[in-house]
Amino acid sequence: MAKGNNRCSFCGRPQEQVKLFIAGKDGANICENCVKSAGDIVKQSEGSNKNNAAFSIEQKDLPTPIEIKDFLDQYVIGQDEAKKYLSVAVYNHYKRLIQPRGADEVEIEKSNIILVGPTGTGKTLLARTIARRLHVPFTIVDATVLTEAGYVGEDIETVLTRLLQVADYDVTAAERGIVFIDEIDKIARKGDNPSITRDVSGEGVQQGLLKLLEGSIVNVPPAGGRKHPDQKMIPVNTQNILFICGGAFEGIDRKIAQRLNTRVVGYNASKQTDRIDHNNMLQYIAPMDLKSFGLIPEIIGRLPILTHLDPLDRDALRRILTEPKNSIVKQYIKLFEMDGVKLHFDDDVLDYIVDKAIEFKLGARGLRSIVESIIMDDMYEVPSKQISELNITKEMAEKKLEKINLSRFATN
Ligand code: ADP
Repeated sequence: MAKGNNRCSFCGRPQEQVKLFIAGKDGANICENCVKSAGDIVKQSEGSNKNNAAFSIEQKDLPTPIEIKDFLDQYVIGQDEAKKYLSVAVYNHYKRLIQPRGADEVEIEKSNIILVGPTGTGKTLLARTIARRLHVPFTIVDATVLTEAGYVGEDIETVLTRLLQVADYDVTAAERGIVFIDEIDKIARKGDNPSITRDVSGEGVQQGLLKLLEGSIVNVPPAGGRKHPDQKMIPVNTQNILFICGGAFEGIDRKIAQRLNTRVVGYNASKQTDRIDHNNMLQYIAPMDLKSFGLIPEIIGRLPILTHLDPLDRDALRRILTEPKNSIVKQYIKLFEMDGVKLHFDDDVLDYIVDKAIEFKLGARGLRSIVESIIMDDMYEVPSKQISELNITKEMAEKKLEKINLSRFATN
């Protein structure tokens, strides 16, 4: 450990203010913060040296939309329309990347996507799953933290910081990447009158985002945030970055219903309204509903592919418990297997878990909490017991849940 003057020779911080201090020759020291910053600088310079690497995928190696959807099917239950739209968009994204750039070539424009669906129905899961199948940098960012420059929060450009980081600061790779912007509905304009509602996280953020979506050169702070005012910005061209936006757009079903009702007046009207499935209004979503919700038309125009996720019914929840490749039940079976115990759930326990999730409106997220509550005591005790099998029955589950107030697992 350091002797000498006991200050970091780079930033000058005294030893007491840092966790780790590494001593060099002749009394020189470096603190862990400076080691990290130096590491980032090395990565950045390596990244910029890699910038001319060619995109190595050929059309014959591309996964087809059907293959991409088959892959999504292994992890995500239902949501067929969203899966189809995503698969095609990703496939076309690849094709844009490999198309020859001759002067007379037809330029394929990018098709950013917007996924609208109730919370907890698989938007983020879809984005995460598709990322596993991709050969381009991918990141998820949350729109709620974004604010206009000058306000507390993150600058819009930091959306690209994360992409640069996952691309190891290889700018060319990042420029072909995919960004999933979650909770895009949270930056909707709050009121109908744009002039009196210049809210910090509203229209100004949408205007800022527009720049990224439409394709332009954006100066990105490589370390993100505003904490390092003197950091060197990295110019990133967003022309080939695919943006997938997701949001719950709570209450948009009423706007859709309003629109449908005003449309269907007069002759044949009652017949048409009869056919509307009021349990799943999102299936009728149209760009103008996003506008009524508070997205500016320019943003909507830059998100030409609009698709929806369905609410999860009893059957979907039941399948989510057991069917996905890493389903909740499979995960707990694996955990017990590591203790040499064969865990089994009776079928009626699984139905019971789904019933409870529906009764307390917990959705798919609640399934895990319920299963966890049922087998918590066993997870605690089993590793110290000499047993090789554990069968969870409905009676056992009822007894465990009796003592628990399930409504506390609700997220909204
Ligand atoms: P959101 O739509 O709010 O982004 P998430 O994708 O985060 O919802 O879903 C929350 C969790 O619920 C997921 O991690 C997953 O365990 C489960 N889940 C939700 N929808 C599905 C689905 N369609 N298929 C499988 N699991 C799902």
